[in-house]
Amino acid sequence: MLIKEFISETNKNQMIVILFKHYKIESVKVKQKSMKRHADFDVDRGMLNLSTKYKTIKSRQIKEFLITIIHEIDHARDAKKYGWKKFKKMYEYEQNMIAQGHYPDKTDEYWDNPFEIKAEKFGQDNWKKWYDKFKKQGLF
Ligand SMILES: [Zn+2]
Repeated sequence: MLIKEFISETNKNQMIVILFKHYKIESVKVKQKSMKRHADFDVDRGMLNLSTKYKTIKSRQIKEFLITIIHEIDHARDAKKYGWKKFKKMYEYEQNMIAQGHYPDKTDEYWDNPFEIKAEKFGQDNWKKWYDKFKKQGLF
């Protein structure tokens, strides 16, 4: 392992701040906690959780890190757009429709949820341009 493979916490946080500002979700509540995922969106509280577990990340983990952050940003934008309580209702409605078998082709309450599909697509579609941008800026 080479020391240059580690991305400092400062650079990691800077990338998060740049992304939040760009997607205009600075007003969404954020909580820092130790967890395995880089980030997740707490639908019950309308809060974005950011992991403190990784003080540093490795350059090969950047792709996964960016996809996760951008995925959660999509949830945060929906929460901002609808108000998080309404978003929670909409999200849970879809979850229940799947659980009750209303969609014949959807069986997974999490991954088949249209909000998850949308968020994941948003992450997959956008991580690369930020990867290139941050690399150019010397953030990793
Ligand atoms: Zn999600």
